[in-house]
Amino acid sequence: MNRREFYRNSSLLGMGLMAGNSVFGRELSISSDPAFYTEAARKLPVRQFDVVVAGAGTAGVIAAIASARQGARTILVEAKGYPGGVAVEGGTALHSFYNLWKAFPGVKKRQLVRGIPAEMVDRLTARGGATGYAEMMKHYEYDAVCTAIDTEKYKLNAFEMLDEAGVYVCVNTLLAGVIREKKEVKGVILESRSGREAIYARSFVDCTGYGDLAAHAGAEFTEPNDYAVVNSMGLANVDIERYFHFLNSSDSVGQLAYGPRDGVPGQIVRLGSEGSNGYPDDFVQGAREIGMSAISTTVHDDYLMFIKLNLKLSQSPTDRDTVAKAELELRKRMQTGVELFNKYIPGFERAFISRTSPNLVIRRGRLVTCDYDITHEDVINGRHFEDDVFVYGFHDMAPKFQIKDGGSYGIPYRALCVKGISNLYASGMMITSDHRAHMSTRNTVSCMGQGQASGTAAALCALNDYDSRGLPFRKLRDELEENGVYFES
Ligand SMILES: Cc1cc2nc3c(=O)[nH]c(=O)nc-3n(C[C@H](O)[C@H](O)[C@H](O)COP(=O)(O)OP(=O)(O)OC[C@H]3O[C@@H](n4cnc5c(N)ncnc54)[C@H](O)[C@@H]3O)c2cc1C
Repeated sequence: MNRREFYRNSSLLGMGLMAGNSVFGRELSISSDPAFYTEAARKLPVRQFDVVVAGAGTAGVIAAIASARQGARTILVEAKGYPGGVAVEGGTALHSFYNLWKAFPGVKKRQLVRGIPAEMVDRLTARGGATGYAEMMKHYEYDAVCTAIDTEKYKLNAFEMLDEAGVYVCVNTLLAGVIREKKEVKGVILESRSGREAIYARSFVDCTGYGDLAAHAGAEFTEPNDYAVVNSMGLANVDIERYFHFLNSSDSVGQLAYGPRDGVPGQIVRLGSEGSNGYPDDFVQGAREIGMSAISTTVHDDYLMFIKLNLKLSQSPTDRDTVAKAELELRKRMQTGVELFNKYIPGFERAFISRTSPNLVIRRGRLVTCDYDITHEDVINGRHFEDDVFVYGFHDMAPKFQIKDGGSYGIPYRALCVKGISNLYASGMMITSDHRAHMSTRNTVSCMGQGQASGTAAALCALNDYDSRGLPFRKLRDELEENGVYFES
């Protein structure tokens, strides 16, 4: 067969495939419209579980542990090679397990978030991977405690807890599709180097941050694009004491907490100025141009865990090509950022970038519509609901917005039930449409609390044959209390 005959036959075969003659190989299914390629149907191997948790990030790790501990056969699907999510790639510290007691004299100090999230942090602290609940000495009208982490120990700690709970953990695996029948999700399609496969289950929890499962399932969502995206770098070779004295010499220390560093208690673990106070003008100008925030935390000598570089995108972070440009821009910004530190800030002369996030991170991508949308008033008025699944007391816009009287508000069960779908929960940064309310509910410790609630609920539904709206709330609440969750109503 010569070249011309080959191409003519190929295109005829392609037309045959379009007409349904799938006996020919997939590689020949070229449509007559050169702008499209039609994938041939494929027979996928099927596996059966009780609960699928998508995304092994901040919320997903806790959801999967909670589900497996209920006795549900639980699979956790994660695109990266490790669990942890934005908790190990984005922020300053885990905000926050306590109420804002110090900002409200006379208010009782309470640990609001307990259960599996606290168990995880306590275990991490015991192995030198977190500061525990170090009290804020400055800026305590914003946060009561500082729970700083070692990102690498956090990943290992999470991995081990998942393994001990008996979760079937699929890392390096993308959730690429959903099998839906009427209002029910029947299964998900996974893609990895082992191939494509279908996973059937009874209950599903979307903890992908981006709402990938819900979007594939046809759930309602929006893409607010109301935050900057970020890459954050760890800086090594930093003299933290000299940095402190530099800020302190102009009375500019704005954020400060002491805790264990490399096993030695009473060390600086959180440090930053208030705004740009104390920094040289050229540094401030340069930092502003690259969206750099210098507040950081550490659990090690000579090291700062997170210096953030922010970039506002013109389009939602679900747009691949916009994100590709941003990935490059953020890497340029990180290099400029460390050079600014080298040049202007005492203690950073020989600092270098020792850690970056594998990809840019987001504060939200898709916002998934659930049965209830937590409002700004609910948060700041400290509202509790008859179906609270845990309580929370941190607001990232404090002191402008705080929870009334340094108390707590409740996250209702309904806020986790994806609208229009009978067996799908959403947890993490993807709930709460009001930007100001989201500035509270999106924080790590809230995401973890949501994870314990949705993972427990998903397991109870799968094991007892309920859909998410049929689950008797008392049963869920009893299980949550039994497993350490704290309530205030
Ligand atoms: C720059 C930055 C700084 C922040 N600072 C703080 C702070 O100091 N304190 C604080 O408390 N909060 C902070 N936050 C907020 C908080 O970290 C996040 O809101 C929270 O961690 C989100 O958790 P999540 O579980 O919703 O998502 P993630 O933790 O992002 O988890 C989602 C997981 O799903 C995986 N995934 C996504 N899609 C798929 C798919 N299709 N298939 C398989 N896996 C998939 C991802 O790889 C990821 O591991 C910050 C956020 C950002 C972006």
